[in-house]
Amino acid sequence: MKRLPLNVLTVVSLMLCVAVVAQWVTTYRSPAYVEFGCRGVRWRAGSHGGRLLLDNRPQRKLEDARHRREQDLLLAEVNAELRRLMRSPPAEYGPPDPRPPDPRDTEEVKLMRRLQPAADESYARFGRLRQKQLAERSPTVRRSVPHAAIAAAAAFLPVARLFWWRLTTTRRRRLRRRGLCPICGYDLRASPGRCPECGTIPPDARVAA
Ligand SMILES: [Zn+2]
Repeated sequence: MKRLPLNVLTVVSLMLCVAVVAQWVTTYRSPAYVEFGCRGVRWRAGSHGGRLLLDNRPQRKLEDARHRREQDLLLAEVNAELRRLMRSPPAEYGPPDPRPPDPRDTEEVKLMRRLQPAADESYARFGRLRQKQLAERSPTVRRSVPHAAIAAAAAFLPVARLFWWRLTTTRRRRLRRRGLCPICGYDLRASPGRCPECGTIPPDARVAA
């Protein structure tokens, strides 16, 4: 029968609709997510606030953590270098400060001036690292669909079939009341037991038999 696949599809649609609505209601209270990897990218799928969503937030979090580690490493390296320079004789600080000495300068200010080129270089290195990190960062990907849209799509077939069923049953009842075949509309008043046109046995005749 051609009807069986359609019936199965209708039942599956109905079940999908019920499941989506159930999830829709529960995820307002408790958002749920699953994480998974696909071709080297970490994804997150879940439902939250009435929408099903998919995004690459886990991937971006991983990258951010790696970038912070890289920054910490560079910072430690730069600090170690500056500390080494401060302990070493002034000749190693870098080129002497070209500005004329100001008599109001404290020893600290003098030291800072001598360390300025090394500090500038550290700053530039940090900037280059940051630029590289931002360039290789994955762009945000975010897709979401309202539960309502999926529920409506899943409800379409069951609702359409219910309407169709209502339509055909009322039509058959009307035909039967007028003494016609409920299937093909042939006049059955002369042969109430069985339709000579299509072979249908009307329900009333079946009960009588
Ligand atoms: Zn008939």
